[in-house]
Amino acid sequence: MKPFTNRSKAVTKTAMTFMERIYLPAILGGMFITFKHIFKKKATVRWPDEERPRSEVYRGKHVLKRDDKGAERCTACGLCAVACPAEAITMVSAERNKGEENLYREEKYASVYEINMLRCIFCGLCEEACPKEAIFLTQELMPSFYDRQDFIYGKDKLVESMDNRIDVSKRQESNVVTHKYNDN
Ligand code: SF4
Ligand code: SF4
Repeated sequence: MKPFTNRSKAVTKTAMTFMERIYLPAILGGMFITFKHIFKKKATVRWPDEERPRSEVYRGKHVLKRDDKGAERCTACGLCAVACPAEAITMVSAERNKGEENLYREEKYASVYEINMLRCIFCGLCEEACPKEAIFLTQELMPSFYDRQDFIYGKDKLVESMDNRIDVSKRQESNVVTHKYNDN
């Protein structure tokens, strides 16, 4: 049959030489290449003992921010859930009661707020959509689990603790730059 291209070559089977038959030169050649790489700078790191430095605007695990007085900023408007391309966010809204002003900043708040981290693609669109600067992605890496249920992150894992405030100023700066770029 006529070939489609003229790239084919006829292969002739020639007898192996003595050196080829003892395989030693080929083995030594292979070992030489391996040894050469032992002294080269490694491209990999010994995770988890060693970590590569991440960008200040790395998109890792989310945080639900509190305001300066410690009240939750999220008002359960749902814009983050609508913006999420992976449909990873669900929430239940509730009305703030009298005397809860120190807990929730607005009259409405999320009594349940969950992110399914197995669905999340860490795109950061929830952060960009939020009008209250309530949700941000942090530099923290997502841990791995054996149970799928452990990947559902509720408010207990998302709302920041007052003893361990998370600095998101770099992300806020980067969002301003992104918005300026999009507006132009
Ligand atoms: S980072 Fe992206 S995928 Fe993950 S919850 Fe936010 S919008 Fe959804
Ligand atoms: S995190 Fe922001 S966008 Fe999402 S429900 Fe709360 S206030 Fe709305």
